[in-house]
Amino acid sequence: MELIDGKALAKSIRENLKEEVDKLKKNGINPRLAVIMVGDDKASKVYVKNKSKACEEIGVDYKEYLLEEDITMDELLNLIHILNVDKNVHGILLQSPLPKQLDINEAFKEIATEKDVDGFNPINVGKLSLNQDCFVSCTPYGIIKMLESYNIPLEGAHAVIVGRSNIVGKPLLQCLLNKNATVTICHSKTKDLASTTKNADIVIAALGKPNFIKADMVREGAVVIDVGINRNEEGKIVGDVDFEDVSKKASYITPVPGGVGPMTIAMLMVNVVKAAKARMK
Ligand code: NAP
Repeated sequence: MELIDGKALAKSIRENLKEEVDKLKKNGINPRLAVIMVGDDKASKVYVKNKSKACEEIGVDYKEYLLEEDITMDELLNLIHILNVDKNVHGILLQSPLPKQLDINEAFKEIATEKDVDGFNPINVGKLSLNQDCFVSCTPYGIIKMLESYNIPLEGAHAVIVGRSNIVGKPLLQCLLNKNATVTICHSKTKDLASTTKNADIVIAALGKPNFIKADMVREGAVVIDVGINRNEEGKIVGDVDFEDVSKKASYITPVPGGVGPMTIAMLMVNVVKAAKARMK
């Protein structure tokens, strides 16, 4: 079994990006990411802190917009529209979840496509499904980068994704299809999940259930990617895969923490630099 070291890979991506940011600055472009956060969600605070640290490390300006829990949709859209036309802002990120009165999909729709570094605007979602150049959402993008960096063949491979969310499962399905994998996507209504996952060359667990995927659900030699970030009863961060159990059978496996998480943030940085470069052109 080989461990897929997302932390180390993410570090090397950030190091390369730092050089690109330096070049952009020499050409008068000062890349900036604007992050909008509404309310006081604890997990979101941790995520945005990690994003700001990554920006600082590679030399990207980071600007946070903290909005009150009870803001209206009009107020949120107004801020998005201001950032859309701000020439100093290259990437806009709206941190989820949002309070109930706000419609996140309506908000994503308003983020300018060329600043949509999370790839959640329906135009970018559509372009991904057409295999056109676009901003690819960061978690699926990071998973593909990891698989490719470890020379894991995707063409012709059978990949089974567990979870069909708009931010992970569905865009990952498109990314893998674009790489000529055969893809099956499972969800809470899937019958006999284990019989499907056992057929996979690559299993990607993105369901948000601690230690859900066990060794008897994967075949010998499978590649196992764990997207989950969950807290167990002891308050420890664990993935959706029972690492101890599954690592005995897998050929490659990602740890949690230190797997998909850092890659997600690294790919966000890739997208911010891409957005800034596009401005230079
Ligand atoms: P989500 O929106 O809650 O979606 C979960 C998906 O899993 C749904 O499609 C659901 O099916 C499916 N599911 C739930 N229970 C299942 C079961 N017993 N069997 C089969 N499918 C089941 O979750 P998400 O936002 O995609 O996040 C998933 C996990 O990844 C979470 O732990 C989250 O914290 C983590 N995450 C990590 C990163 C990272 O950077 N590492 C990024 C994003 C998310 P239905 O559609 O039928 O309800």
